Amino acid sequence: MKLIADLEQRLQGLDEASLTRRRRTVDTPCAPRLVIEGRPLLAFCSNDYLGLAAHPAVVAALREGASLYGAGSGASHLISGHGRAHALLEERLAATQAASIPDVRALTFSTGYMANLAILTALGADADAVLFCESLNHASLIDGARLARAQVSVYPHADVDALAAQLAASTVENKIVVTDSVFRMDGDLAPLAAMLSLCERHGAWLVVDDAHGFGALGERGHGALEHLGLRSPHLVYMGTLGKAAGVAGAFVAAHASVIEWLIQRARPYIYTTAAPPALAHALLTSMDIIEGAEGASRRAHLADLIARFRGDVKVAPWTLGLSTTAIQPVIIGANDAALRAGAGLYGRGLWVPAIRPPTVAPGTARLRVTLSAAHTVEDVAQLTAALNQLERE
Ligand SMILES: *Cc1c(COP(=O)(O)O)cnc(C)c1O
Repeated sequence: MKLIADLEQRLQGLDEASLTRRRRTVDTPCAPRLVIEGRPLLAFCSNDYLGLAAHPAVVAALREGASLYGAGSGASHLISGHGRAHALLEERLAATQAASIPDVRALTFSTGYMANLAILTALGADADAVLFCESLNHASLIDGARLARAQVSVYPHADVDALAAQLAASTVENKIVVTDSVFRMDGDLAPLAAMLSLCERHGAWLVVDDAHGFGALGERGHGALEHLGLRSPHLVYMGTLGKAAGVAGAFVAAHASVIEWLIQRARPYIYTTAAPPALAHALLTSMDIIEGAEGASRRAHLADLIARFRGDVKVAPWTLGLSTTAIQPVIIGANDAALRAGAGLYGRGLWVPAIRPPTVAPGTARLRVTLSAAHTVEDVAQLTAALNQLERE
């Protein structure tokens, strides 16, 4: 059949460009030591930065949540799916951003992808709004901008001057600046303080996607805004709950009126079944850990691992990204060379994903090392030794 033959030809094109992606089936819980198809591996892949995905207390809370609230929510939040556990979690999450956002309220979503679609389509609902989008924004922010009716203006990565010029040149009233906080393939931080003062000067919203900061950054794990000490009613914050928080889902924290507007108008909030309340119940335990002494000591251990990795790894002629976060990219360049480097590590029992376009720019294929508080000093030493021995091309 022609339809299938066309697709098969396109798939072959991907293969010829070393762009075919394949899944590996993991038989064990998310942790540094995994078993894949019967083979033990030491993994540096997950976004489980604090090692909470398989934490016994979080797992026990999930079990308890299921016994209290059942398996499913049964309906969307606006019908009958909004449970007590969701309400408690929203209060808890709002409190995490209370020092950063006046009159803050929080709203939970099933995924960060949907939260971003919700923010951009609801704030950018009208054709006379402009979304100012950072060029390395996550796919969900790009898709949210495509789905919104607002115009889109892209500014270059981390370029505050270019953003300032775009804001100054714009005559529209409703301006929305949209950025990742921690860039997920490079590990660098957006210049949020400078961006926020621009937004205040131009009466613009600043939407911050803190998928990789929430739980991992800040003294209490409250994320990028706490880490940088920012405070403003212009901030619209998105944190995910499937990365450092170890479970699933996401939340938006913003001024109460922004949240009310999302509840009334955001289709990715309204027209979908609420996440199981048991997940929200488990996340209350994640929050206890993140905000308590255990979270602080996990973040301190992670910071030590990051410093050791950066101090010991020798990747020349490849380059190590300028990152102080748990995301440590080794930028190689060509797709096939990155794949071979990943395969070389895999052969040594180490799993580090090779990231290729379109996830990163052409010519910047890389190994994306992610470190977790669940790794030991020895785990990181093993990775560093293997990387240092790897054949360079
Ligand atoms: C992972 C991620 C998301 C999506 O969150 P999910 O909960 O996984 O859907 C959004 N933005 C960024 C920057 C991410 O890394």
